[in-house]
Amino acid sequence: MNKFEQLGLNESLLLAIKDLGFENPSEVQEKAIPVLLEQNTDLVALAQTGTGKTAAFGFPLIQKIDAEDRSTQALILSPTRELCLQITNEIKQYSKYVKGLHTVAVYGGASITEQAREIKRGAQIIVATPGRMQDMINRGLVNIKNINFCILDEADEMLNMGFYEDIVSILSDTPDEKNTWLFSATMPAEVARIAKKFMHDPAEVTVGSKNSGSATVSHEYYLVNARDRYEALKRLADANPDIFSVVFCRTKRDTQAVAEKLIEDGYSAAALHGDLSQAQRDGVMKSFRGRQIQMLVATDVAARGIDVDNITHVVNYQLPDEIETYNHRSGRTGRAGKLGTSIVIVTKSEIRKISSIERIIQQKFQEKTIPSGIEICEIQLLHLANKIKDTEVDHEIDNYLPAINEVLEGLSKEELIKKMVSVEFNRFINYYKKNRDLSSQSSGSDRRERDGAPRENNNGGATRYFVNIGSRDDFDWMQLKDFLKETLELGRDDVFKVDVKEGFSFFNTDAEHTDKVMEVLNGYDLNGRRINVEISKNDGGGRRDHNGRNSGGGFGGRSSAPRREGSFAPRREGGFRSDRNSAPREGGFRSDRGSAPRRGEGREGGVSERAPRRSESFGDSPRPRRPRRD
Ligand code: ADP
Ligand code: MG
Repeated sequence: MNKFEQLGLNESLLLAIKDLGFENPSEVQEKAIPVLLEQNTDLVALAQTGTGKTAAFGFPLIQKIDAEDRSTQALILSPTRELCLQITNEIKQYSKYVKGLHTVAVYGGASITEQAREIKRGAQIIVATPGRMQDMINRGLVNIKNINFCILDEADEMLNMGFYEDIVSILSDTPDEKNTWLFSATMPAEVARIAKKFMHDPAEVTVGSKNSGSATVSHEYYLVNARDRYEALKRLADANPDIFSVVFCRTKRDTQAVAEKLIEDGYSAAALHGDLSQAQRDGVMKSFRGRQIQMLVATDVAARGIDVDNITHVVNYQLPDEIETYNHRSGRTGRAGKLGTSIVIVTKSEIRKISSIERIIQQKFQEKTIPSGIEICEIQLLHLANKIKDTEVDHEIDNYLPAINEVLEGLSKEELIKKMVSVEFNRFINYYKKNRDLSSQSSGSDRRERDGAPRENNNGGATRYFVNIGSRDDFDWMQLKDFLKETLELGRDDVFKVDVKEGFSFFNTDAEHTDKVMEVLNGYDLNGRRINVEISKNDGGGRRDHNGRNSGGGFGGRSSAPRREGSFAPRREGGFRSDRNSAPREGGFRSDRGSAPRRGEGREGGVSERAPRRSESFGDSPRPRRPRRD
């Protein structure tokens, strides 16, 4: 008797489970399924993402539904449209051998009348997002007054997203006698409140310790200078040729910018954030699931509910504002028992956050150094050799062999191998030969020596700068101050009198930092735009007054500002790939930090075989995937 059978599941479910290829129940399934099958009870189940919660409620639910009765018997609420569709899809697969059982997805952004029509035809299970469900109830398009089961999936996320009111209102439209099953990764106060208000003496299932990270995820951090963040990301990608990852940024703007840069540099990447239309987001997710995208750059909000198997790496390009969010991010990898790595690219000013995170996830981080150019070359070389070895030969090629042999005649096997490998390899070696190591080694004291003056002891007065970034780049004065502090690696009070205008800004530092400011900031690539900084005649009224505004006489640099206005690259909206044909961008990389062309992209002009990157990077080497996803 297999393990699923021991849990009490019936034949039609066992058949479906066999088709899905599940061999053993996961822990939450093992604990929740028998309880739910044997008792009519409420339940609170806490388990990390990726532990198989959908089946933990889906299997017993399907078994308890009366498929001969066409009325709506169960409502599953889930936070996002993505998840809603995913759960619907899973439930349909689990119930494929149950005759007459229908599941309908109800979510915003699609025709409400069509969804209502589907329900009318008879849907025992409705999977819904709270907003759309509320809408349907208000319009009298659905009747949940007689349901027997209500499932709150990812309850913490739903409440995070502000659905408390909707949930309360929806639940009050359901009968008291129903059973409520609540599934959540964490148990914040709001979830406890819902449980208390709507559940009667619920059974409890907890997998792992509350809030702690998944054991299948290892955590690493890389300490870099703020200005090397992007370069570090690229190297990490180069050092992991098979990377399949979600890269988290803090803002939509950064998300878009990082994705665009990756695309420009020849990586298969795309952005996912709230400024994209639903159709664009669906397109991105489809490509990501289909593995045409290796690096999905996303905001936390947009990534909620991303539920894709086999993600190898989660990259925290920037740490989240709320440390708790780290757990949600890293939970995107290490799913279904697979191993995953969560990487943090961190600067010195944020390094203490690492220990706070360690406390929350109850796991230690490993400190790593960004691989050197040589290491990356080695990795790429071996990867290439393996790829050659594993490539299946299509015998169509036989037709061309005589001509090819003629060209290559006279080369020994050794020479041939060297040359073949070099075709792919040269651009990495050429690129990395020129590029320095990235790890941030300079401690505070080195910095003092390098500057040649003690930092705090300033008597050289202040320098006021004009810089060509402003509110149109989504900076307010605090954000600009943070950006400058981080980029320049300055202390808390070293940047002051920050005054942000639309297309430009002013700020002060102590005079001792002037050289550094000019050196680091000039030409700095801010999301594809080159920063230009000039010393403004006006010192902005001298020393700091800490209100972040310029209280002293006016803006000395103003007269020089308008001429810069024209030089801004147009903002690009959303999308991926297809927009590569749009207006050429200003700026790009600083010349001394050119980017490694990938896969025959030949930034340096030498490589002529512009192979289509997409098929190059993925299409020809299908990853192992579970058959049911196809
Ligand atoms: P959660 O809701 O806890 O985040 P899911 O229910 O989405 O997790 O499951 C994560 C992945 O694991 C899905 O692809 C699912 O099909 C798969 N899965 C679930 N249960 C099992 C199992 N017993 N054996 C193998 N894979 C499973
Ligand atoms: Mg889930």
